[in-house]
Amino acid sequence: MPAWICATCANQYPDTESPPRECVICTDERQWVPSSGQRWTTAAELAAAGHRGDVREVEPGLLGIGADPPVAIGQRALVVQTPEGNLMWDPPGFTDERSIARVREIGGLRAVTASHPHFYGSIVEWSHAFGAEILLPEADAHWLTRPDPAVRTWSGTLEVLPGVTLVQCGGHFPGSAVAHWADGAGGAGVLLAGDTIFVTPGEDRITFVWSAPNRLPLPERAVRGVLDAVRPYRFDRIYGGWWQPVLRSGAREVLESSASRYIEFLRGDAAVD
Ligand SMILES: [Zn+2]
Ligand SMILES: [Zn+2]
Repeated sequence: MPAWICATCANQYPDTESPPRECVICTDERQWVPSSGQRWTTAAELAAAGHRGDVREVEPGLLGIGADPPVAIGQRALVVQTPEGNLMWDPPGFTDERSIARVREIGGLRAVTASHPHFYGSIVEWSHAFGAEILLPEADAHWLTRPDPAVRTWSGTLEVLPGVTLVQCGGHFPGSAVAHWADGAGGAGVLLAGDTIFVTPGEDRITFVWSAPNRLPLPERAVRGVLDAVRPYRFDRIYGGWWQPVLRSGAREVLESSASRYIEFLRGDAAVD
């Protein structure tokens, strides 16, 4: 039997004879179940429907791996390449041999991790393909829907590879994280942010959400927690969970000014007339 994939969030479940009754990720208040009911799929069914791996160089040393057309929430992975090995971040829900072959060409993976449970996707498949560790924050590890012995938990911060550090920020999930890549953006520094920090469509602001589909905002104390967690790091660019949008430069200043504006709205201090 293949692993079951939730058609709405693309998290994988063990290869049991029949799929579970519900997806614990989608019944959570941060996600959603279609009004027509829970639907399951498999990698073979997705491939038969025309989904293919979509691999792009995002910037030097950073490979993007998604699916075309996108599957479920539609995140694309980012693979940070270093001389000591590579880290995969936010694996997509669908993976094929072509994507795996491309990662093999750049030296495989030392570890695979994600910003938060909505993007665990095919994390176990990638771990199996390269014998890579699965790094999950202690606070969120129970959300992994396909348990695996390669899981190692962490909390606070973790330097996975030289210059590549996981930073627990909380907010969207207690273990919501960013990955800081010191050499990214030509040495100016990059944050891989997933849903921890949302880049807006104009690529000139950021925002925060507790639930994106259900339009629930992030409380002020959680916003401040994200800011405090990333302030020690040098960065100029933020990649969100999708190919676009990307906050290409000036990200540090934009993060501070957007967060101040967001808090004005939370407090009811913003003029809205
Ligand atoms: Zn789901
Ligand atoms: Zn999310």
